[in-house]
Formats: sequence, structure tokens, C-alpha cells
Amino acid sequence: MSSPKKTDILIIGAGPVALFAVFELGLFDMKCHLIDILDRPGGQCAELYPEKPIYDIPGYPSISAQGLVDKLMEQIAPFHPEFTFNRMVSGLAQLDDGSFRVTTDEDEVFEAKVVVIAAGGGSFQPKRPPIPGIEAYEGRSVFYSVRRMEEFRGHDLVIVGGGDSALDWTLNLQPVARSVTLVHRRPEFRAAPDSVNKMYALQEMKQLDFQVGQVTALAGNDGLLRSATVKGPGGDVEVPCTRLLPFFGLTMKLGPIADWGLNLHENQIPVDTEKFQTSVPGIFAIGDINWYPGKLKLILSGFHEAALMAQAAKRIVSPGERIVFQYTTSSTSLQKKLGVA
Ligand SMILES: Cc1cc2nc3c(=O)[nH]c(=O)nc-3n(C[C@H](O)[C@H](O)[C@H](O)COP(=O)(O)OP(=O)(O)OC[C@H]3O[C@@H](n4cnc5c(N)ncnc54)[C@H](O)[C@@H]3O)c2cc1C
Repeated sequence: MSSPKKTDILIIGAGPVALFAVFELGLFDMKCHLIDILDRPGGQCAELYPEKPIYDIPGYPSISAQGLVDKLMEQIAPFHPEFTFNRMVSGLAQLDDGSFRVTTDEDEVFEAKVVVIAAGGGSFQPKRPPIPGIEAYEGRSVFYSVRRMEEFRGHDLVIVGGGDSALDWTLNLQPVARSVTLVHRRPEFRAAPDSVNKMYALQEMKQLDFQVGQVTALAGNDGLLRSATVKGPGGDVEVPCTRLLPFFGLTMKLGPIADWGLNLHENQIPVDTEKFQTSVPGIFAIGDINWYPGKLKLILSGFHEAALMAQAAKRIVSPGERIVFQYTTSSTSLQKKLGVA
């Protein structure tokens, strides 16, 4: 084990809610260190839908998910948060003095006065479809998310699934791909009816192909796909396929969080709605990971939770210090912290 790295606040996760928490905590002079399994900030926004527009962020009629992450990173830059990526937080224990020791799967050790769990759906992983030998193509020809649409330009795409992700990417990638074949086991979809109608209209114009059935086999060499076999009502069909995008949903694995002695409610962490504190004082949970009556898994809900959590965290980090409510528009002291005064 390495010697402990000390910080005021240790944040588990670096999704949008964790990033905004850095801002709210920073206004109260608290230093944050964030740890995430992913290799970059942004959580679901960066990993699952970076190029999709979000329409319900206050003040932004439309902003791409990655655009929002970039703006949040810009907004928290004055507070110099530290990040540790590609690490899973595996252990969380309370020390005799009330502070917390956090350990990662690489045995790094952190000590913090307060821990904020902003772990979203936990360590989320895409479900792998039951296609023999698919592992050999993963990362080269088989992808479970779209980071950059350009990477799919000129390819023969096979997209599998019947939910919003499958339909959205079928429509978004159709203009850049050489061919698109959507495969779903039945002609009815779970996706938004508007997307389904658009897909059928494109099929009508022969701009994509929709096959009812399941992908049962892949052909290619050295991780590079050539074709896929679709087993449908009329038998097997071989379709051109240089990129396969299966959208079978995500497994929401709480992972090690389940072992930290916190009360849980259906894989989420119950919190109060005044401080967003868990059953252990000093450990807070904000964003998609928490639960309380009326909880909405929206980014804006997480932002609100971060603001209230920061007040409560300050009382633990600096006991006895008076907390003054201030506006960023009128407080010179806050503006100095932001580097604008
Ligand atoms: C396709 C799609 C569209 C969406 N559209 C909208 C929308 O229009 N508007 C809206 O408000 N919301 C939308 N959402 C939901 C929104 O993305 C989530 O509410 C938001 O991402 C939650 O943020 P978060 O920071 O709580 O968690 P996440 O974004 O899930 O981030 C949590 C992070 O914690 C990390 N983590 C988990 N466990 C550990 C661990 N043990 N150690 C280290 N790291 C860990 C994960 O790797 C992840 O990066 C959408 C979601 C999807 C999938």
C-alpha cells in the first residue's frame, strides 16, 4: 500500500454531478480529489452519449453531453481538483478520528475528512450479446458506445437492439456509414415512436436495412469484422459488417459500494434531502446513485444536491466556522476564488 494522499473531500466518480460538486465545495475552500473507473471525466455523458444534445440543462437550450462536461471542467478549473482515473474505489473505512480511508483496486490510499459518493449507476458495464467469439472483435470492430461518429464513417454497420440507443445511433450514423443494418428480434421497438417511424421511412427509401432476427455468428480476421449472420424467420442471412454496435443495455453493478456498510434501497443509497448524507455521517451521496422519495435521475437534480451537500460538508471540514450565504454575482470574496475579481 502507498502512503495516504490527504484531501478535504474525496469524491467517488467524476460524472457531471461530481464535477459540479467540485465547484460548490470549492466556493467553501474545500479541496477535492476525484477517482473514476473511466479514463476521463464525464461519467455517462462522456461514455454513453457524448455527441447527443441535452435539452434540459438550465440556461442551455441545447448542449451536447461532451460539451456540458467540457463546460463543467472549465467552470471548476479555478479550484484545481485532482483526478485519479482508471481506478475503482474498492474500500472505504472510517478511522478513529472520524475521517475516512479510501482505497483503490491498485492499492492507492486516500484519507479525507468527507467522502462524497457520486458513483451514478455504480460501475456500469454494457451487456455482451451471446454471439460466439465476439470477445475477439471487441475494441477493434465491436463497440458498445459511440465516442466519435467519424470512426464509423464509410463502414458497414450492424446495429443490434430495440431501445433508444440502438434507434438513435441507427439514425445518427446512417448519413456517415457506407451501409447500416439494424437487427432486432421483433418489429416492435421500445424506442421513442418518432425514431422508429424515421427508421422505417429510411428503410422504405432503401437508405438502411432492417432485419428481424438475431446475430448468431461473426466472420473476420485478427479482430477485423467482415460479415455477420442474422438468423431470422426466413432463415440465415449474411450481411456486410465491418463494425458491430450491440445495444443490449447496461448492467448496473453497484460493485464494492455494496460492501461499505451503508444502508441501501434497491441498489441506491438512501439520503436525507437536507444534506444528502448517507446512513454514515460524513459520507454523502449525490446524483444518480442516491435515493429519496421523489428522486429524479436528472443532471439538474444532482446539481441541486451538490449545492446543499457542500454546506453540510463544510460544517464537518471546518467545524465552528460560520457559513455565510453569498451570491457569486455580488460577493468579491467568491469572485476572487473564481479568479474574476
Ligand atoms: C442515453 C442517455 C441520455 C440521457 N439524457 C439525459 C438528459 O437529457 N437530461 C438529464 O438530465 N439526464 C440525462 N441522462 C441521465 C444523466 O446522464 C445522468 O443523470 C447523469 O449522468 C448522472 O450523473 P452522475 O454524476 O450522478 O453519475 P454518472 O454520470 O453515472 O457518473 C458516475 C461515475 O462514477 C464512476 N464510478 C462508479 N462506481 C465507482 C467506483 N467504485 N470507483 C470509481 N468510480 C466509480 C463511474 O465510472 C462513472 O463515471 C441520460 C442518460 C443516458 C444514458
